[in-house]
Amino acid sequence: MPQNIPIVENILNANDKLAQTNRARIDAAGVFSINILASPGAGKTSLIEQTLPLLKGKLRVATVDGDIATSIDADRAAAAGAGAAIQINTGGDCHLDAVMLFGALEQLDLTQFDLLIVENVGNLVCPANFKLGTHKTVLVASVPEGDDKPYKYPGTYRGVDALVVNKIDLLPYVNFRMDYFTQGVQVLNPGVTTFPLSCRTGEGLDAWVEWLVQNAKKSAS
Ligand code: MG
Ligand code: ZN
Repeated sequence: MPQNIPIVENILNANDKLAQTNRARIDAAGVFSINILASPGAGKTSLIEQTLPLLKGKLRVATVDGDIATSIDADRAAAAGAGAAIQINTGGDCHLDAVMLFGALEQLDLTQFDLLIVENVGNLVCPANFKLGTHKTVLVASVPEGDDKPYKYPGTYRGVDALVVNKIDLLPYVNFRMDYFTQGVQVLNPGVTTFPLSCRTGEGLDAWVEWLVQNAKKSAS
C-alpha cells in the first residue's frame, strides 16, 4: 500500500537522526564501536566470548547485547571479561534500533572504555535497515548456514564493513563451497575485509583482534 511508504520513511529518518546523536556521544569518548549482525546460531556471542580474553590489557570493552527475551548473551560477555555488559530486551522486536542503543548508552560511562561491541538480534533481514550510530557493521556468517546466504540476503551483505566467516573448522564436514560464497560476497561488497576463523579452535582470531585494536587506536586519536 503506497500510502504507508512515507510513514516507514519517517520512522527510518527519525532513527537515523538518533543514530547520529549516538555516534556523537561515542566519538566524544574516543571509543571505537561495532554493530554485529548475524543469523541466530552463527556465533555472535561466541565471537565476543573468544575475543574478550584476547583484548585483555589492550582494550577496555563494553558490550551491549540485544535479545528478544533473555540475558544469556550479556551474562556470557560479562563472564568473558567485558568491563560492562548491558542487556537490551527488545520485547519481541527482531532488531535493535537507535532508541534502544541510546537507552543502553545512558547506562554506560563510555569514557571508561576503548571499544563498544553491540550484538544485534539474530536476524539477517531488518537489523541492516536500522542504523545505531556505531562506526562499523560486522556480519558474522558461518559455514553450517550454507554458502548461499549472500545470494539470499543481498541487502545485509551489501551494507557491512567487515565479514567474519565463523566455524571454518567444519569445512571438511559440510557442503560449503568457499569459492561460491566468496563470489556472491564480491559481487555485493567488493573487497570487504573478511576474517575466516573458528571460535572453537581459535584459528584466525588474531587477525580479527588486530583489526579491532587498530581501529580503536584510530578512534582514540
Ligand atoms: Mg548471541
Ligand atoms: Zn526487525
